[in-house]
Amino acid sequence: MNMTCVYCDGFGQKQNVLAIWKQCPVCDGSGTVTIDPDAIRRAITTRTGLAKSKPAAARSVFGAEYVWRMIRFHAGVDVTMPTTCWYTIGCGGILQQRHQSLLNVLDRLVDDLAEEFFGTSTAAAEVWVR
Ligand SMILES: [Zn+2]
Repeated sequence: MNMTCVYCDGFGQKQNVLAIWKQCPVCDGSGTVTIDPDAIRRAITTRTGLAKSKPAAARSVFGAEYVWRMIRFHAGVDVTMPTTCWYTIGCGGILQQRHQSLLNVLDRLVDDLAEEFFGTSTAAAEVWVR
């Protein structure tokens, strides 16, 4: 599934802190990102399930670092709130309404895989409500 890059709004370029236009680091200048659930799954799993440390392969698959980190959070393996993983999908800083359609797709994948690997996707929520 192709979606407009939310970091550069499909422009392919982004101004850096010095107001110099640079190729967008999230979409590599294409303006779109591809969400491939099978590729994400392959990048973050080993023969025994979800990779225990962040797999190097995840860096080259859009969304994989985000999904890996959020599964661990939702399953209660990591109970600290993920913050930096939003930057890997271009949603760093303050979450905005325009990020929602992208997050909906990725978060559905997170829920499905958390359920599959850990039998739960609400362990973190349960920790937080205690
Ligand atoms: Zn971009």
